[in-house]
Amino acid sequence: NDRTAVAMIGLGPMGQAMTRALLAAGHPVTVWNRTAARADGVVAAGAARAATPSDALGAAELVVLSLTDYAAMYDILSGHEDALAGRTVVNLSSDTPDRTREAARWFTERGARLLVGGIMVPAEVVGTPDAFVYYSGPREVLDAHAAALGVIGRPEYLGADPGLAQLYYQAVIHCFLSALAAFLHASAMVATAGVSAKEFLPHAVAMADSISSYLPEAAGEFDARDYPGEQASVAMMGAGAEHVLETSRAAGVDTTLPEAVASLYRRAVAAGHGARGWTVLSEVVRHDLT
Ligand code: NDP
Repeated sequence: NDRTAVAMIGLGPMGQAMTRALLAAGHPVTVWNRTAARADGVVAAGAARAATPSDALGAAELVVLSLTDYAAMYDILSGHEDALAGRTVVNLSSDTPDRTREAARWFTERGARLLVGGIMVPAEVVGTPDAFVYYSGPREVLDAHAAALGVIGRPEYLGADPGLAQLYYQAVIHCFLSALAAFLHASAMVATAGVSAKEFLPHAVAMADSISSYLPEAAGEFDARDYPGEQASVAMMGAGAEHVLETSRAAGVDTTLPEAVASLYRRAVAAGHGARGWTVLSEVVRHDLT
């Protein structure tokens, strides 16, 4: 049958949620966590407790890591490297693409294979139909363990370069974090006139919903490096960005975020691109403005 013996190393909110989902789907799970007491809940739910990382590795066809970063992985696995040969490891911890590429080499040197993943949903969504996970690295690992990994969330395979999963992850999280910070910033702006965030909310939601409609054209212009959108020129959009900055400053709210946005427009204008479409900011962020 397609039940896979899984070792789950790392039992923060994500590791615990994945363990519970795997157990519920009938996969046996052996767990190890640095702080042993954190395993108590999932052990009560049916997971087996490993005394050491080596024991966890030895019990598994598939090793899943869910840690704060890749440094935690080296802290845990160094000293247990003999147990790695022949193992298949999926690291679902967040880190930079370069660190994940380096880790792929580290496992190869120890006779193991690494599939890199990035879980794109919070712990409470893990194991539900809304959950999805970016993967990169050896495709055959994903295919061989599709049953167990599919329990965590829908796999989205991005390619053989192990760095891709965390590159996409960090890029998407950047959109997420920037937009969330912008919402709080905007709420602070209107709060200076006694407007509550709840009153302002429908306006922010309408704008958030409309942003996706700008992206297809922006993507085409980014790829073509051609920015014909004179209807929304850098000069016009940049003047708007300066007004946001001045309004924030006058209101006494933080200026970090509007300053950063205005700076992109200023540099595009300074390079002589004021009459081009706003997507010429692509040249500023790519750092090869000519
Ligand atoms: P944490 O990021 O808090 O990770 C906690 C785990 O890492 C614990 O098991 C902790 O052990 C272990 N750990 C950290 N440092 C070390 C170390 N030096 N040596 C040994 N173990 C260490 O928990 P989450 O479960 O929230 O996140 C796991 C990963 O999933 C992260 O990379 C996060 O970015 C990512 N993620 C999280 C989401 C979320 O909503 N929480 C959503 C999507 C992705 P101990 O218990 O002993 O401290």
